[in-house]
Amino acid sequence: MKDIVALCKRRGFIFPASDIYGGINGFWDYGPLGTELKNNIRDLWWKSMVLTPPLGPDGEPVQIVGLDSAIIQNPKCWEASGHVGGFNDPMVDCKESKKRYRADHVTVLLPKNQDGFWLAFDKDAEEDDINQRLKKLAKGRPQSDYDVKKLDKIPFSDFSKIIGPDAKEPGTLTEPRQFNMMFYTFIGAMGGEENKAYLRPETCAGIFLNFKNVLDSSRVKVPFGIAQIGKAFRNEVTPRNFIFRSREFEQMELEWFCEKEEAPKWFEFWVEQRKKWWDSVGIDLKKCHFLDVPKEDLAHYSDRTIDIEYQFPFSAPEYDELEGIAHRGNFDLTQHQTFSGTKLEYMDPTDNTRRFLPDVIEPSCGLTRAVLAVLSEAYTLDETRPSGVYLNFPPAVAPKKAAILPLTAKEEHVPIAQKLYMELREDYAVDLDIKQNIGKRYARQDEIGTPYCFTVDNDTVSDQTVTVRDRNTMAQERIGLDHVADFLRGKMHKKS
Ligand code: ATP
Repeated sequence: MKDIVALCKRRGFIFPASDIYGGINGFWDYGPLGTELKNNIRDLWWKSMVLTPPLGPDGEPVQIVGLDSAIIQNPKCWEASGHVGGFNDPMVDCKESKKRYRADHVTVLLPKNQDGFWLAFDKDAEEDDINQRLKKLAKGRPQSDYDVKKLDKIPFSDFSKIIGPDAKEPGTLTEPRQFNMMFYTFIGAMGGEENKAYLRPETCAGIFLNFKNVLDSSRVKVPFGIAQIGKAFRNEVTPRNFIFRSREFEQMELEWFCEKEEAPKWFEFWVEQRKKWWDSVGIDLKKCHFLDVPKEDLAHYSDRTIDIEYQFPFSAPEYDELEGIAHRGNFDLTQHQTFSGTKLEYMDPTDNTRRFLPDVIEPSCGLTRAVLAVLSEAYTLDETRPSGVYLNFPPAVAPKKAAILPLTAKEEHVPIAQKLYMELREDYAVDLDIKQNIGKRYARQDEIGTPYCFTVDNDTVSDQTVTVRDRNTMAQERIGLDHVADFLRGKMHKKS
C-alpha cells in the first residue's frame, strides 16, 4: 500500500489535500493523471447505466435517466432519511490512549476458556501487531485460543475485561456513544440553528426528492432507474487507508424503481450487472467477496443487501466494501412523502385507479473507492523492467491511452510524431513526449499505465511505419502510420 501511495504522489495521481500546509486528515486532491483515471471510471459507470443501459430480462434495454442534484438540500430531507438523529456510528473513547474508535471497527479476541483478558484490535491490525501484543499482554498465547467478536456486539458490562487497541490496561474503553457524521454549514449571513444545513452524506437522497419531477417531465415508466454521480461528505471519525475512507468522496448511485413483486428478480439482475461492470474496469472477481448481509445486520427497511467486497492490499486476506446493493423497499419514498406532505405515488398507466410507491433496488458504489481498487489491481511488480513496476489498467480505464515518442529530438522524427499526436488527440487522451532517452520514457509510461507507445524512428521516415510497444509484454511490432488510429480503436474494449 505504501508503494502505491508513493507512486500516486510521484506520478501525479493523488496528493494529500493542502499538502503544503501539512495536509488535512481525510481529504485528498486528484492530480493530472488521477483526475483522468477517476473521470474514466465515472464515465464508464455512466455509460453502463445511462447511455447504454443493460438489456433487461425481456431482452430490451432498461430505462435509466441521469440526475445532478444539489449537495445542500432542505434540512428536512435529512430528518426524513433518518440521517439527522440517526446517521450515527457508535463510538468508544479510550481513557488511556485518548484515541476514539468506531465500535464496529474494533475486533475483540475472547479467550475460549474464559481465562484472562480480552484483547481489542483495530479491524485492520496486521498479523504481526496482533502476535506482538499477544506476546506482551497474554504471554504469547496463540490466536487459536481465542474467539473473535466485534466490539459493537459485546455488552458494555463486559468492557472491564477488554484491553483497548492502543492500551496496556483493561477497562479503559468508554461506553459507545452516537456521533453524527454529517458536516454542516449555515445558509445566509445570519448563522444560527434555524439556518443550519447539511452537506449530503450520500447522493441518493437527491434522487428520491426528484422522483416526481423526473416522472412528470420524462417518459419513464416503472420499472426505471435514476442515476447520479457526485460528491458526498461524511465526518468519518477515523479516515484511513489512503482514499478508502475519506471525509469528502464521490459516489455513483442508481435507484431502480420497480413493483414490489418484481424486486427480488431485479435485485439479482443488478447484482449480476454490477459484477460485470467491476470485471470490465479490470477488477479480478476472484479477489471479490459477495457478502449476503446477515438479517441481523440489515437496516430495518432492507429485505436484502449484498456488499461487493474487494481484497485491498491493506485488507488482504480479508475484504473491504466497494459497493452495497440494497433492496430498500419503499422506505425512502414513504419517508419523503410523509415529511414533505407531497404525494409521490406512481400511477399505473394501465390502471389509473392503482397508485403506489415503488420498491427500490439501490446499487451504491464509491467512485473514489473504485479508483483505489482499480489502482491496487493494476499495480504490478516486474523486476525485469527499469521502472520495476507497471500499472496494468484496461485501455478504457488508463489515463493515457498511448504515448507518441519520437526516438530522438531530431528534426525528421519530431514533426511526424507531432502530426500523429494532433490526429490521435481528437479521439483519445494521448501523450507526446519528446525529450529524454527512450528507455526512461518507456519507464515513465509503464508507471502511469499507458497501454501503448508509438515510436517514430528513422524507418518511419522511409516506410511510414511506427513501432508499437505493448506495456504488459514489452513486445514491439511495426504498423503503418495510417493504421495507428484503427489499432487503438480495436484495443479500447480489451481488458489489458
Ligand atoms: P462503511 O461501512 O465502509 O462506512 P457504508 O456501508 O456506510 O460504508 P454506504 O453508506 O453503503 O457505505 O455507501 C455506499 C458506498 O459509498 C460504499 O460502498 C463505499 O464505496 C462508498 N463510501 C462510503 N463511505 C465512504 C468514505 N468515507 N470514503 C470513501 N467512500 C465511501
